[in-house]
Amino acid sequence: MKFIEALKLRSKLFFLFMLITMGLVIIGIMGYLNINSMKKNLDSLYFGSLVPVTELNEILQIYHGSIANTIYKARNTEISSSQTTSEIENALLKIEMQWRNYESHFKRDEELQYVQYTALEIKATNEYFKKILNGVLSGETIENISMENFEKRVEHIHSTVKKLINYEVEVAKYERKSFLSLYEKLIQNVGIILSIIILGVLIISYYVFKSIQNDHTKLEITTKKLRRANKKLENVSYTDVLTSLHNRRYFNFVYDRELKRAKRTKSYITFMMLDIDFFKQYNDTYGHIEGDFALKSVAKVLKDSLKRPSDYVFRLGGEEFGVLLIDTDESNSARLAREICDSIRLREIKHETSKVNEFLTISIGVVCCVADEALNEDILISRADEMLYKAKESGRDGYIITTNVSEATVLESSEQIGA
Ligand code: GH3
Ligand code: MG
Ligand code: MG
Repeated sequence: MKFIEALKLRSKLFFLFMLITMGLVIIGIMGYLNINSMKKNLDSLYFGSLVPVTELNEILQIYHGSIANTIYKARNTEISSSQTTSEIENALLKIEMQWRNYESHFKRDEELQYVQYTALEIKATNEYFKKILNGVLSGETIENISMENFEKRVEHIHSTVKKLINYEVEVAKYERKSFLSLYEKLIQNVGIILSIIILGVLIISYYVFKSIQNDHTKLEITTKKLRRANKKLENVSYTDVLTSLHNRRYFNFVYDRELKRAKRTKSYITFMMLDIDFFKQYNDTYGHIEGDFALKSVAKVLKDSLKRPSDYVFRLGGEEFGVLLIDTDESNSARLAREICDSIRLREIKHETSKVNEFLTISIGVVCCVADEALNEDILISRADEMLYKAKESGRDGYIITTNVSEATVLESSEQIGA
């Protein structure tokens, strides 16, 4: 059954369909052949036995009914001699015709001898009657016929034909018996063939369906693997390779989603833009590889500081990071920004060329507001950027927070809280 396994699903179903069709065709052919052979048997029973018996009976009937009767009537002068001759002539012709018909049917070897004997007897009897006929035609009176001879003749031909009839009846019985046994055999054969076909179809169907099931299971496993691979791929496409933080691509997706949600629920939304201070100098002093380590350390501090499931940290590019907070009011946002600045400074990553501290520091621009339908999608980012610029200007290593998200200038309403 390996070849079934090797077939494709569509081919398997086609194969099954072909198998069932073939089975049905075979059953049809078998049925046709059996009905045909039954018909042949019936024909042979009818033509081989019943028709011959009818013909032989007819011959007897003519001998008794037509010929003997005519002769009796003629003796009793009930009919004229011309009537007598025509009746006998017709009767003899009929007998010859019936006998020819009878002889034309199939004959078994064992009966041939007796048939030939009967044919001679009929011929002799007919000759005898023809003699009587010729006598009558040449003017002899019918009374001269010896009735004893006549009756002996009729009796003899009767018993001869009767024997043949009995033989044919016996043959008919035998034929019927053999036909019935043949019929039972045929039924048995059809039953056996049908069972074999059904069993074959069942076995092959079992293998086909098992194979389909295997394919299905394989498909399910492959789909699961594919789904996992896709998930991994999606994670990779949303992850920054250096810091393992979410990347800008994911930021775009999450920012859009969370902003819409906050607008719907009229909740607080906070966005922070973070930038390492004098990082160019850091790279110049310690080299790019050390710079990368510093970026990883900053990422770790950010991850450790923001642990709620609704807090998101992103590396937006270069040494710039983004933080998105949900349901965090102004004071808590400010507290978190301060903690981040402190944690990074307290991490004590040496930065000799920094103009603000001997260790690596960060500046943060923060915007915090209650989202509503009027909130512009880009304003949070541009306002955070403005606040970051201000934080840099105000001496770095600190944050500036604003709650004003109107599109007019906001400098005067911004609140500065140095770290
Ligand atoms: P400021 O305080 O005004 O932000 O000064 P800065 O030097 O940090 O500003 P600037 O944007 O001029 O410098 C950013 C530097 O960050 C430039 C580049 O060398 C460095 N940088 C950006 N991406 C990476 C990175 O993936 N790895 C490393 N090692 N350095 C990076
Ligand atoms: Mg920068
Ligand atoms: Mg910088």
